[in-house]
Amino acid sequence: MRPQRDIGIYLHIPFCRQRCHFCAFYLEVARTERMDVFRSALEQEIDLYNRQGLTSNRPLRSLYFGGGTPTALPATQLVSLLDRARTAWPTDASTEITVEAHPSTVTAVDLKILADAGFNRISFGAESMDENDFVPIGRPGRVRDTDVAVEAARAAGFVNINLDLMYGLPSQSLTSWTETLQSLLALEPSHVSCYALTIEEGTRLAHDIARNVVPKPDDALQVDMESAAETILQAAGLVHYEISNYAKPGFASRHNLLYWTDGDYLGLGPSAQSYVNGVRFGNVADLTAYVDLLNEHHLPLAERAGLSEDDQQRDALVFGLRLVEGIPRRLVHPDMPQHRTLASLSSQGLIEWNEERIRLTALGRRYADSVAQELY
Ligand code: SF4
Repeated sequence: MRPQRDIGIYLHIPFCRQRCHFCAFYLEVARTERMDVFRSALEQEIDLYNRQGLTSNRPLRSLYFGGGTPTALPATQLVSLLDRARTAWPTDASTEITVEAHPSTVTAVDLKILADAGFNRISFGAESMDENDFVPIGRPGRVRDTDVAVEAARAAGFVNINLDLMYGLPSQSLTSWTETLQSLLALEPSHVSCYALTIEEGTRLAHDIARNVVPKPDDALQVDMESAAETILQAAGLVHYEISNYAKPGFASRHNLLYWTDGDYLGLGPSAQSYVNGVRFGNVADLTAYVDLLNEHHLPLAERAGLSEDDQQRDALVFGLRLVEGIPRRLVHPDMPQHRTLASLSSQGLIEWNEERIRLTALGRRYADSVAQELY
């Protein structure tokens, strides 16, 4: 039996002011009455877990408000949800409490309310520091909003500030991307996430590309952009610790590290995913169904799968390889079904291993999704 390990709680807030053209997340366009219904259902879900005690007595590593755009809700409502969550999962000074925010949805007053209530990490979706990049991806707001929001967050007391960026955007060049990186660094974030644009089926962007309204992403250019990000961000003292993530020492995301280190996490809210005690389960990706189930005092689950010991080891390997430092070699047993695949990946220069650790090479990180598929 596993010892009582620490756990992270994820709260999915499924609202945005509008849907960006590339986004396939489960969410609704923010409307007050739907947000009110959602909040009440989320409180019921928190209370149900509290009564069940599934995760009580587990040290709480993190509370993460993600979305969607959590700050589509007023700051006071986020604080009341935080307080409710803390009745089920008490926090202490070491708990990382993150809120994701779109820069144009928060004021200095909101940020002060959030910081004073105990949120100690904020993650802004900057996406780019060049406004020309926003139009083809339908991302609302101005670059100036990011500058103002970061400054206000710092003034409110946030020290741990993440900025998300995207590369491979339709209008981006290598030059404009490096300028975005430099402008971002001028804001002195403690953490930066860089995500390659991927085209999700059914999105407006996929449709625009199919109609030749927007150009397809250029794979070779994305590779150059990834290298440029690594060079520029590392030179600024941000450590590349996961394929898409960079942090100043001591600022790696404690919540996201749970995903990559075989940790347990419980997700609440429509479409949220969980992994607790070797079982993966997920909530219904439909707000109405979510509310109905909770009104009937049921957990709003859509799926549940217990993983065999082999599957748990495989997942720990696949997710752990996303970390730049990889995973301890002792986690890879010679009798694992993946052992032979690893040897083949090693001969292709995609992974490297020694007595102590096994990790992706720089080439392997570039093809991480294909490596993961090989290992499944
Ligand atoms: S703000 Fe984020 S979550 Fe909302 S639509 Fe845009 S990409 Fe999706």
